[in-house]
Amino acid sequence: MPTPSKLNKKELTKFKVLIENELDEIRKNLRKTEENIKKSPRDDAGDLSAYSIHLADQGTDTNETEKLLLFREKTEKYFYKLEESLNKIKSGTFGICAGCGKPISKERLKAVLCASYCLKCKQERQNSLE
Ligand SMILES: [Zn+2]
Repeated sequence: MPTPSKLNKKELTKFKVLIENELDEIRKNLRKTEENIKKSPRDDAGDLSAYSIHLADQGTDTNETEKLLLFREKTEKYFYKLEESLNKIKSGTFGICAGCGKPISKERLKAVLCASYCLKCKQERQNSLE
C-alpha cells in the first residue's frame, strides 16, 4: 500500500472545480425539491431517484412529501460539507484526515469529495458508534 501524499496545487485546483460543479448541481436539485415540496406531493418526485443520494432504502412507510423533506435535509447537509471542503482548500487543510492528521488517499477523495477522515479513521468511528 503506497502512503497517500499531500495534494499538490494542481490537484487541489482539480478538486476545487469538482466540488464547485457538485455544489451547482446540488443547488439545482434543492431548487427542484423545493418546488416539488410546494406542489402536490404526488406530483413528479420520480426524477429525484436519478440523483446520487438514494432514498429507496429508507423504508416504504414515508409518503412523498416526507421523502422530499428528508431528501432536502440530506442534500443540505451534503451541501454544507462540500462548502466546508472548499474552505479547507482555501485554508490548505483539504485532504488531511481530521482524526489522525495524515493525508487522505486521493482515490477516497475522488469518491467522497467531502471526506474529512481517512478510511481507517472512518471505520474506527463507525465501529465506535455501534
Ligand atoms: Zn485518519
